[in-house]
Amino acid sequence: KGPDPDLVAIAERMATVKHKIAILSGKGGVGKSTFSAQLSFALSSMNYQVGLLDIDLCGPSIPKMLGLEGQDIHQSNLGWSPIYLDSNLGVMSIGFMLPNPDDAVIWRGPRKNALIKQFLKDVDWGETDYLVIDTPPGTSDEHISAVQYLQSTGIDGAIIVTTPQQVSLIDVRKEISFCKTVGLKVLGVVENMSGLRQSLSDLRFEKVSDDGKPSDITEWALSYIKEKAPELLSVVACSEVFDSSKGGAEKMCEEMGVPFLGKVPMDPELCKAADEGRSCFLEKGFAGSAAPALKRIIEK
Ligand code: ADP
Repeated sequence: KGPDPDLVAIAERMATVKHKIAILSGKGGVGKSTFSAQLSFALSSMNYQVGLLDIDLCGPSIPKMLGLEGQDIHQSNLGWSPIYLDSNLGVMSIGFMLPNPDDAVIWRGPRKNALIKQFLKDVDWGETDYLVIDTPPGTSDEHISAVQYLQSTGIDGAIIVTTPQQVSLIDVRKEISFCKTVGLKVLGVVENMSGLRQSLSDLRFEKVSDDGKPSDITEWALSYIKEKAPELLSVVACSEVFDSSKGGAEKMCEEMGVPFLGKVPMDPELCKAADEGRSCFLEKGFAGSAAPALKRIIEK
């Protein structure tokens, strides 16, 4: 039996792509797509030629996060053309193929696998420095086959996104074991939603009265601060949201012998940027909340 023709076709297609990084998570909703989008923005802002491939077929949020909703994919004799946000940032997502953004993809495994394979085989990325691949969460069937196809192309490795909660970390351990089993290098783990970061002027202040009823005293509190210590209004408040006593992702990384890339706090700016389809780093001069983790990955 000769080599699998699909794998040969994928390897040929990927020959023009220098680095491939898969973004994984154990669970949905931890910020995997947000991180994939922001990493792509960051890399393209550094003048690399970047491709962002969204194969999270259950919840394709990449088109929205890049402000590309409603775009159609075009085909040429070279294959499917990515949608270009900038001349150096091309995007491909199942989301572009759904007639209505509210449509759910309720395909079964084999059909999903076929589409993932087609994405890897048929998208014409051209000469590309970094291909960032937003994968489905968990270790589902399509997840496993996606990783296997990618591995056949010489993928650099995976970045795993988690939140600090134990329920998420348990799944990350499984994800790391999965990577070790299939021989996929773990480039590192990012702890997202690690604490909350807000500027003081965005906080809402409440006073709870004796009968337990909260009343909003924001206006009073802010004018008080403005009068007594105006410099505090430009201060950023950080707070822990989840129980960090068990050491979170950093400790887990140590135990499992994989690199810890850093913490990204919950940041209303980042959420807004994702909803509005724009980068959160460029306007902050690459000093946004996720920048330290991104920087370490990029400069490696
Ligand atoms: P996943 O891809 O893991 O399912 P998403 O990237 O879609 O998760 O993120 C889920 C939601 O959380 C989105 O609305 C996103 O804007 C928000 N989000 C993710 N990370 C952060 C963060 N660090 N700060 C604020 N909001 C975030």
